[in-house]
Amino acid sequence: MRQKQGIVYLVGAGPGDIRLLTIKGFEVLQKADVVLYDRLIHPLLLEWTKPDAEIIYCGKLPDRHLLRQEAINDLLVKKGQEGKIVVRLKGGDPSVFGRVAEEADALQAASVPFEIVPGITAGIGASTYAGISVTHRDYGGSFAVVTGHNKTASGEPTVDWQALSKGVDTIAFYMGVKNLPYISENLLLNGKDPDTPVSIIQWGTLGKQKVLKATLKTVAKKAKEEKVENPAITLVGDVNHLRQGKSWFERQPLFGQHILFARTDDEPSSTVESLRDLGAEVFEYPRFQIRFSEDKQIDYRLYDCLYFLSPKSVQAFFKHITDIGLDIRFIQADFVVRSKKSAKLLSSYACSSITIDEMEPGKKVLVLGEEMSEQEKSSLKKKLGDFDYFVSYQKALVSQSAATFERLWDEGRIETIVFPNEKSVVQITDALAKTKYTPTLISKHVEVICYGPISYQKAIELGYVGAKVLEHPNKEELIQKLGYSLVKR
Ligand code: SAH
Repeated sequence: MRQKQGIVYLVGAGPGDIRLLTIKGFEVLQKADVVLYDRLIHPLLLEWTKPDAEIIYCGKLPDRHLLRQEAINDLLVKKGQEGKIVVRLKGGDPSVFGRVAEEADALQAASVPFEIVPGITAGIGASTYAGISVTHRDYGGSFAVVTGHNKTASGEPTVDWQALSKGVDTIAFYMGVKNLPYISENLLLNGKDPDTPVSIIQWGTLGKQKVLKATLKTVAKKAKEEKVENPAITLVGDVNHLRQGKSWFERQPLFGQHILFARTDDEPSSTVESLRDLGAEVFEYPRFQIRFSEDKQIDYRLYDCLYFLSPKSVQAFFKHITDIGLDIRFIQADFVVRSKKSAKLLSSYACSSITIDEMEPGKKVLVLGEEMSEQEKSSLKKKLGDFDYFVSYQKALVSQSAATFERLWDEGRIETIVFPNEKSVVQITDALAKTKYTPTLISKHVEVICYGPISYQKAIELGYVGAKVLEHPNKEELIQKLGYSLVKR
């Protein structure tokens, strides 16, 4: 049999903000079997990969030198030849100082099919998020992208300084922080006005974004004083006059906040969406892989009531009856729900539902949901009497999400943890049980916010010291606790 044809996508991930990835980039990332990524790739992007995707880091590691370019090329070819869908994820745009041509050449030479997916380059993305447009009718009609570092022994860039100084209005220097004295000196020597405004944009488009304003004359000294570090773009030109005070991005109410939102299933959370819209970087943790039951023995027709414990159990039910070929019209049972979300999902299938309080006593009940503890079963028994139980789906932790947690933690990108319910406290603590991240360690470095008294009790019991609790468990109150009020007084 002929082997399946592989393909390699060389994808630009954008400058930082994960939502700046293109739709095409997002689509191929979701279906990739193998992902190779660089140091500057935001860890949250890897949360969009398949649960079983192979994730390979190509940057520097303490115990290993970085994977050299030739080794990366070889790996791309090898994985492509194995018939895999491969994504090579690169910061910004892959063809702006991204060595994409070398990778494409290697793939071409080996006859491995490939596609290049452009991305937003840092020079434009970071500038835009700093409130500066790289061209402007009054301030700049030309824009150049220049490396601030090259392969020579000194690392100093070899560019046509005269042409750059005389002929280009806006210049974005990449990788140039170390060489700023050399860069500014050469521009000055070649006639650039010493008062030309300069911005250094560090960690552009991210919660950590910081902008330093200077002039060509002062920039090298200021950068040293302020200990500017990579990644940073140095933007030279009159367009910098456009930055007055904070940018639209930095003015967002939750700008600069890094939040871990604990979750108990894989449903998207509307609260998380709101936090992101207000400018926070939010990590939903942990991530689960759902496995639906394929049990063929269960007969729904034998029951008076089907009790759905979660929206996922509704989804599992419809998948299951489709798989076993059972027409829903043969099921006479009442549908009973625990949450409004489940009711809403059932109504999208044109099915009505009742709550447990509306159930008549003495009915034969089948409960559908994930594995329950004995404690949960006995408390449900108090409400329902005897019931049968069908584990209609199972959740498994996706190991990549633990790696994402570790990287975000190490980079100081988790500042607040939100526990929306009791279960989330237990699940996060379980997910981290085998790591060094104990509740005591976490609460030492991070603010813990619980939605209500029950999750608070659990958090304290499990060892989260100094947790805070919301007076009213809702989104508005959470946002207020994070320092911003949605309600205009
Ligand atoms: N292909 C990338 C550039 C890779 S070179 C692109 O198109 O953006 C790496 C350099 O990009 C860094 O040294 C820095 O100068 C710049 N850079 C990358 N991400 C950045 C960010 N979030 N903020 C500022 N500069 C960034």
